[in-house]
Amino acid sequence: MNNSVINELNFKNEPVIKYLPKSRERMELEAELYRIKNFYIDIPLIIGGKEIRTGNKGLCIIPHNHKKVIGEYHKAGKEEVELAINEALKAKTKWEEMPWEHKVSIFLRAAELAAGTWRAKLNAATMLTQSKTCRQAEIDSACELIDFFRYNAYCIQQIYNEQPLSTKDVWNRIEYRPLEGFIFAVSPFNFTSIAGNLCASPAMAGNTILWKPASTTVYSSYVVYKLFQEAGLPDGVINFIPGNSGEISDTVLSSEHLSGIHFTGSTKVFQDMWTAVGNNITNYRTFPRIVGETGGKNYIIAHASADRKSLIEGLIDGSFEFQGQKCSAASRAYIAKSVWNEIKDTLIKKVSNIKVGDIEEIDTYMGAVIDNKSYDSIAKYIEYAKNSSDAEILIGGEHDDRSGYFVNPTIILTENPNFKTMEEEIFGPVLTIFIYDDLNYSDILKLCNNTSKYALTGSIFAKDRYAIEEAEKELVHSAGNFYVNVKPTGAVVSQQPFGGSRLSGTNDKAGSKFNLIRWMSPRVIKEQLHIK
Ligand code: NAD
Repeated sequence: MNNSVINELNFKNEPVIKYLPKSRERMELEAELYRIKNFYIDIPLIIGGKEIRTGNKGLCIIPHNHKKVIGEYHKAGKEEVELAINEALKAKTKWEEMPWEHKVSIFLRAAELAAGTWRAKLNAATMLTQSKTCRQAEIDSACELIDFFRYNAYCIQQIYNEQPLSTKDVWNRIEYRPLEGFIFAVSPFNFTSIAGNLCASPAMAGNTILWKPASTTVYSSYVVYKLFQEAGLPDGVINFIPGNSGEISDTVLSSEHLSGIHFTGSTKVFQDMWTAVGNNITNYRTFPRIVGETGGKNYIIAHASADRKSLIEGLIDGSFEFQGQKCSAASRAYIAKSVWNEIKDTLIKKVSNIKVGDIEEIDTYMGAVIDNKSYDSIAKYIEYAKNSSDAEILIGGEHDDRSGYFVNPTIILTENPNFKTMEEEIFGPVLTIFIYDDLNYSDILKLCNNTSKYALTGSIFAKDRYAIEEAEKELVHSAGNFYVNVKPTGAVVSQQPFGGSRLSGTNDKAGSKFNLIRWMSPRVIKEQLHIK
């Protein structure tokens, strides 16, 4: 019996570790990198706690050394997906009824493991399968993942504490039930933390899950799954089903028991899933909750008063860290002519010094892009710009996929503010710049707002307070995360809840109360105390 009222949980962001040469953490990381590269892994599906091997397999590849295969994974077919739905439903009652503090404890334990003995495993898997530098892995698969688990726990307690008013003769209560049925969590390749959170947040609220990880990063997702198991997650609560997305989706989205979709990925895939839900809407037992964080065409605007040094830093880190494959990465910039004349040479020089290559080398800033599909798509945009009379390649433009999917950081300059690369999401290290006359600042704000169908992130660089105020107002619907005098990437859990609107998603702010509440279905209980 538990009748204790629990003290409020505390929350603090996980500190970022530096991994200096010869430090204990660097040595542990290097040992893990070695282990992963030298021990071939065979990754099963995990359904109802049981490992299943279908024999229909995909490969786990290192993007910056794509001939190196580090393992293979089994793919789920229709039969396994149906089994996973049954197992998720079977696990549901016990999981739902488990007191919330027990559920949350599992994820707090997972955070503790990730901050300690599992840190190197998570980071090494992320570095090798996503081609992230050590720093980029650390802020993702260690810090952000840990923050998601701990902050979700903190938010869940706050939500549960929220209760309606009662009167002298009526006692009102809210019970925060999970949704009826199962949740379909579908993760993108680019963040281990997002992948972990997509299944963890509905699970913490009492739901059971089918998790389809991205095919290119099954390895790092599997490490997160094993972390959940190590932390004590009961069988069937999260079911791990990598495989062919179309085939899995068809079965999942037509199940009458689907109660929610938790998705991060591209806009088109999300639209297709939503369409499929619409087509099946009369078959469901409940209206599925649909939460999706999708694409972006994020901007940087530099006013004539912008601080030159911070702008250059913002343009480089905002556009090129992790090869421009952060959903929040800047990919179009509008720069006042007077500023441009002063920063152009330094910007080009700094970008030309960026080291692209093996992420295990300590001075590498950019690794490879995720796969051949992505490489081809980015290369096509670059070639388009090279051959266009509307644009010139200012720096970069080289790409080479012989050993890894490498694309150099590329800056395109255009005089056409509606040039293809100013409007479409490229999802690679390509920034397009448009120079405007200093006096046209107000028009540029309008242009920026109207150019893109997305609205994820954006930054304004200015010292002039009126300019900042005007941008904030004019661009109110252009970004769910708006930044002043800093790059548009690097949102920190608990500090900048993340998500965008328009075609960038449902803006339910991953890792926050807003998101968690989507996985709950409150029941209000009114009890009459005074009976006439
Ligand atoms: P993607 O859309 O190609 O894939 C995402 C997931 O959807 C993968 O697991 C994939 O296998 C699955 N998928 C593909 N087709 C499907 C279908 N028909 N049914 C069900 N699932 C399907 O995206 P990606 O390349 O992995 O990630 C990059 C995209 O994600 C970019 O557009 C980026 O902007 C976006 N993203 C957005 C955010 C955000 O917070 N807004 C965060 C990360 C990534």
